[in-house]
Amino acid sequence: RFPAILVSREGEKGQKVEQVTLGLDDLMDGDVVVAVDHSTVNYKDGLAVTGKAPVVRRWPMIPGIDFAGTVESSDNPDFKPGDKVVLNGWGVGETHYGGFAGKARVKGDWLIHLPDGLSGAEAMAIGTAGYTAMLCVLALERQDVTPDKGPVVVTGAAGGVGSVAVSILSKLGYEVVASTGRPEEAEYLKGLGASEIIPRDELSGDPRPLSKERFAGGVDAVGSKTLANVLSMTKYGGAVAACGLAGGMDLPTSVAPFILRGVSLIGVDSVMAPKARRIEAYARLVRDLDHAKIAAMTTMIGLDGVQAAAADILAGKIRGRVVVNIG
Ligand code: NAP
Repeated sequence: RFPAILVSREGEKGQKVEQVTLGLDDLMDGDVVVAVDHSTVNYKDGLAVTGKAPVVRRWPMIPGIDFAGTVESSDNPDFKPGDKVVLNGWGVGETHYGGFAGKARVKGDWLIHLPDGLSGAEAMAIGTAGYTAMLCVLALERQDVTPDKGPVVVTGAAGGVGSVAVSILSKLGYEVVASTGRPEEAEYLKGLGASEIIPRDELSGDPRPLSKERFAGGVDAVGSKTLANVLSMTKYGGAVAACGLAGGMDLPTSVAPFILRGVSLIGVDSVMAPKARRIEAYARLVRDLDHAKIAAMTTMIGLDGVQAAAADILAGKIRGRVVVNIG
């Protein structure tokens, strides 16, 4: 038997969160059982655990959109007992029991082998937030946003996506401008490789269709006016990878950056990303993210700390990444 966080409906719209003990029979269908050693608290997990947005779409639910662990049993030819694996997304923690549990039964197609050079704890320190940051960097590279083109901006920089994006981009030689609402995190962000810190307010005012060309590209975890401002400040031919909505789901922009400056807005989704792209992202994370930086951005908690961390991440109080040690 194993511990798990379970969220259940309470009343028509409410929900309750409890730590329970479950057995394998309680898990949902799948062809691989994984002994989970680490999970993480991503923004989406914060939404699921607090119920602030309808992330959970099947009740009750074990939240946790990602996990790393060891295959315990498998009917899938690609995995055998003892394999180290990692899972991000695919509706896990939303419609299928997720990572905040000692065990998970999932489709083998959702798993990838943990790459050499990365521990389960490190994979979860990267987590879906960090793997998404890598997808954003890959998207910028595909648009030819190379370090010689000029500075790139990362919004929500002290958060999970932001911290990993800053680290990777700086290691790749980009000049990274980090936008944060927490000036007290300036030293932290410089330590990750940011060369300039700008206050969040500088990007959150009412956007103009076009502003002074400032960035060759950007990784945006915030959305809303912030993304609109970043687009209006993107240099001719530049590109912005949009992956988040920490500041809002809207996008009050105009076509001006696209039709007058040839700017590209690239949508990045991690949940349903094809397996080949995931494997590419993990290989690049092993190469382009320093282990010391992974450690510097990580806080470790147990399952009993998940609820508090969920509330904190929605309040914008979490710095970097929170890893849940389950094993
Ligand atoms: P996180 O750790 O909470 O980071 C979000 C950061 O955004 C915060 O640390 C804060 O950074 C900034 N922020 C928060 N509220 C804001 C506001 N009202 N206005 C402006 N900035 C604000 O969350 P995360 O796990 O990194 O996720 C970031 C976003 O990416 C979320 O919206 C999440 O849903 C999304 N996401 C999407 C995918 C995908 O597949 N597309 C995958 C993972 C995450 P500062 O304190 O530095 O300002």
